[in-house]
Amino acid sequence: MRVTVLGCGTSAGVPQIGCDCAVCRSPDPRNKRLRCSILVETMGQRILFDTGPDLRQQCLGAGISRLDALVFTHAHADHLHGLDDIRAINNVIGRPLPAHAHTDVLQRIQERFPYAFGGGQDGRGGFWRPEIEPRPFTGDGPFTIGPALLLPLAHGHGRSRVWGFRIGNFAYSTDADRLDEAYLEALAGVEVWLVDALRDKPHPSHAHLDRTLGWIDRVRPRQAWLTHMNHEVDYATWQARLPAGVTPAHDGLVIELED
Ligand SMILES: [Zn+2]
Ligand SMILES: [Zn+2]
Ligand SMILES: [Zn+2]
Repeated sequence: MRVTVLGCGTSAGVPQIGCDCAVCRSPDPRNKRLRCSILVETMGQRILFDTGPDLRQQCLGAGISRLDALVFTHAHADHLHGLDDIRAINNVIGRPLPAHAHTDVLQRIQERFPYAFGGGQDGRGGFWRPEIEPRPFTGDGPFTIGPALLLPLAHGHGRSRVWGFRIGNFAYSTDADRLDEAYLEALAGVEVWLVDALRDKPHPSHAHLDRTLGWIDRVRPRQAWLTHMNHEVDYATWQARLPAGVTPAHDGLVIELED
């Protein structure tokens, strides 16, 4: 399995428009964070998690032109509003793209992007609108994408519910401020965990660093990577402070692990 971090920034991205703080002005490329998204390649499947506003740049940067499926964590703008760029993928693969999401999330997507649900083909084999094929999951158990098995896990995010995923020995939990016992138990034995840590100070809808470190202490993955970081996080400062086996992610990070 190969996981590519396409973006590990919070909703505003880093640098943030109009900010001249030290991190926003930092020349360190690890302090440039696009909106959160990952590509998971496993068992012959290329699966994109979320379609944020930086999707076009992320696909060009990582050389992504073909996908087998989309998976959505939730329907916030920073995870969804690049959906139009899926049209380019539709044109490469010549068909609608299966989109796996919880029923409620699919409904929110359909409210905002009704034109992405059917009717995107121009009659000559091309797509003039993005077209996704809804594949709802209920959250009661795992679902499959080809031979790959994905276990969806619900966590809290302010007033919202967001879906994390376990795929083999990898887990992804972005936009999280509350994980319950069952969630932590479901992650037992994961080798690599990519998990939300917004900043040092507490926040109403994201875990701050201490809370995330508490979760990591419970799950004890071989390696934890932090994501959804805002402009208060200087990469080198956090890297120097974090315990062994915990590292801030950076855009372009590639994680390899067994399927
Ligand atoms: Zn987010
Ligand atoms: Zn800033
Ligand atoms: Zn969110």
